[in-house]
Amino acid sequence: MTMEEITIDELDFALINEFFTELERQGPGSAEETIRALAFIGNLSNKTKIADLGCGTGFQTTVLAQNTEATITALDLYAGSIDKLNATAGKLGLQDRVKGIVGSMDSLPFQNEEFDLIWSEGAIANIGFEKGLNYWKGFLKKDGYIAVTYESWFTDERPAEIEKWWLDAVPEIGTIGYNISIMQKTGYIPVAAFILPENCWTDYYFIPQKARQEEFLKKHAGNKTVEDMIAFMRREAELYSKYKQYYGYVFYIGKKM
Ligand code: SAM
Repeated sequence: MTMEEITIDELDFALINEFFTELERQGPGSAEETIRALAFIGNLSNKTKIADLGCGTGFQTTVLAQNTEATITALDLYAGSIDKLNATAGKLGLQDRVKGIVGSMDSLPFQNEEFDLIWSEGAIANIGFEKGLNYWKGFLKKDGYIAVTYESWFTDERPAEIEKWWLDAVPEIGTIGYNISIMQKTGYIPVAAFILPENCWTDYYFIPQKARQEEFLKKHAGNKTVEDMIAFMRREAELYSKYKQYYGYVFYIGKKM
């Protein structure tokens, strides 16, 4: 569970986004793992069309653009993230192939079978794994690919404290085997599944948050919502360090049947 996924109604969407848009990533992941997942996708060319859903400020969007010749539409609910993504694309000279748009992943403004590849890192829980796979499939060409990271259990059983935390956040969280079965059930051939290494959580997610947390508490001194939000983030990091052998993000890659 990342802040973005669980707190929209519990905390303050604008504050969460104000916090996270200053960071490179809004969820666990890394350029290395994005490239690793990309290696499983066949038939990439300068005609390839990619949708990156729940793109945030677009860290992985840039990695996709720099490692393919594809055209990419990146979509997020938060306009501030999309502004940042489009500014970055401009600075890197990628504006002809990368376009950020504001929208919701459960009501996509796309044509049926428009895309060769749908990408989504750390965001599918916002619509639900099964629902997202089902709905997004309509926007993929036949033989198109999907690549998503999703919170998953590594073991069949786990301590009650961490089980409760995750069930509150992502009620449909399942094991890797279960999630692969959902991919098959929703009409994809599973191509690969791999666990994101620990540095995706520590070096690229929790550690960059620390200085921002201090700064944010100072800026919003006395704001109880901000204090609760930072306490939640710190708890998330503590629980990860205590229970990381039981869960993590898994990259699931499938091909539409
Ligand atoms: N993909 C980015 C990354 O890995 O750094 C961002 C991941 S962040 C954990 C989840 C993102 O999903 C946030 O940017 C949030 O604004 C976005 N989001 C949440 N609900 C959404 C929805 N219904 N439609 C589109 N984006 C949504």
